[in-house]
Amino acid sequence: MPVSNSTDREMSAEPDTESTGEGLPINELFYSLQGEGTLAGVPSIFIRTSGCNLRCWFCDSYHTSWEPTHAWMDLDAILDEIESHDADHIVLTGGEPLLHDASVALLEELDERGYHTTVETNGTIHRDAPIDLASISPKLASSTPTPERDPRSEVPAESRNGEPQSQGAANQGDGEWEQRHEANRIDMAALAALVEDYTFQLKFVVTDADDMPEILDLLADLREAADVPIRDDDVLLMPEGATRDRLAETRTRVADLAMEHGFRYTPRLHVDLWNDAPET
Ligand code: SF4
Repeated sequence: MPVSNSTDREMSAEPDTESTGEGLPINELFYSLQGEGTLAGVPSIFIRTSGCNLRCWFCDSYHTSWEPTHAWMDLDAILDEIESHDADHIVLTGGEPLLHDASVALLEELDERGYHTTVETNGTIHRDAPIDLASISPKLASSTPTPERDPRSEVPAESRNGEPQSQGAANQGDGEWEQRHEANRIDMAALAALVEDYTFQLKFVVTDADDMPEILDLLADLREAADVPIRDDDVLLMPEGATRDRLAETRTRVADLAMEHGFRYTPRLHVDLWNDAPET
């Protein structure tokens, strides 16, 4: 099982917004196997920041987006925890880790120490930082939350740390996030800058064949906008599903779609191994 090395963390009053100090809002910090993408199976330390500029209805890290946790760590504490593990690969994920200024400072520190860094991003923000692999997951129209697809109604109270729904979250139930998410989920200039500046993989969460026309259109637009080639095997199709039961429904048809279009299929190894356990 993955090993958490979390310590008590100082509480922050503003975890859902961009941080600018020498620290980060941290939801989880743990050691596991990379479950997705070209580095699947590689032992890695995961730093999951809290706070996201989008609100996908299916978000599998609810406490980084819909109701971000209030934990905070300074960079020295993060680096101390990382160095307590024997791992060469670091995955900076979220939420949206590039929301935070301090993510750049952390990546610079990790680069100086010789770590390989993967940044898991939704592709809406570009930062100038030492990133070894930009793992870009543009969000499709099917990710947009609607009143009929509101994850807050499906999350049991115990999964919210027993906390009542915050007033801020309550205010988001009026369709505000549907509009904000739809307006912000694709930023072609940011996507082009990310693929131009970094070694990258483009990872799409796919439910079924209905997602493919939008992926193909977005890919055509990005190939037009970017000054670097985007090969078919830079494009990864990942089955939608955060549980083994759900993956059993989606993965075979997504694998078939990958073969049909010449794209790469990526498993969700952590779900196969540990289902939906936290810190995996
Ligand atoms: S972009 Fe990622 S972290 Fe943000 S809401 Fe969507 S799935 Fe969750």
